[in-house]
Amino acid sequence: MAGTSSLLDRYRLVQAQIENAARDAGRGPSNIHLLAVSKQQPAAVILELAAAGQRDFGENYLQEALPKIRALSHQDLIWHFIGQIQSNKTRFIAENFQWVHTIDRLKIAQRLDEQRPHFSPPLQVCIQVKLAEEPGKGGVWPAGLPTLAQDIARLPRLRLRGLMCIPPPVENLAAQRRLFANMRELLAALNNTGLKLDTLSMGMSGDFVAAIAEGATIVRMGTAVFGPRPD
Ligand SMILES: *Cc1c(COP(=O)(O)O)cnc(C)c1O
Repeated sequence: MAGTSSLLDRYRLVQAQIENAARDAGRGPSNIHLLAVSKQQPAAVILELAAAGQRDFGENYLQEALPKIRALSHQDLIWHFIGQIQSNKTRFIAENFQWVHTIDRLKIAQRLDEQRPHFSPPLQVCIQVKLAEEPGKGGVWPAGLPTLAQDIARLPRLRLRGLMCIPPPVENLAAQRRLFANMRELLAALNNTGLKLDTLSMGMSGDFVAAIAEGATIVRMGTAVFGPRPD
């Protein structure tokens, strides 16, 4: 059972690293949530982590996520959609996830709002922000953010929680922090216009320390928790 102990070892290590980064930033660790990005991980591995106390899991691909969500539906897990959203897939997302991090246009938000089942609580959502031109990556440019945020905040079946980003890979901590500081400032600017946003979904295995230093409340970690993905 070497695999078992190494998953739990990595999980404990990541939790300790998050706590250290929080302490170094003068923040309470309870304000930083670990989202375990379980793409390409089988349901059995997710179950193992759930047994260790992890509740929040992130998935990018709907076709891959739905069978896992079904297989684990007896567990009390919180599923976050963190992939690009095609408009013909919004119904499945609205019906099966509790969070969506990657909204970057109103049309998608409106569809999720219409399709969110009435017996479910509002869908918790973040707007994905684009900080640099990167082909194939979604996100709204900062200039379009205020209008989009106001429009989404009015949708009754969604609850706008904050902002998310996937910055380009940057090597050094100072440069990583500058990108994440932009996000912190964008969130503060929106809150100054009357919104009440409490979430910054930013930081992955390679840059979560910088993200926590700049106010991340959700860090999305895949490889650091599960080990390298086969791709
Ligand atoms: C895969 C992925 C992650 C996790 O990346 P790691 O580098 O493995 O931690 C986080 N966020 C998104 C949107 C992803 O697609």
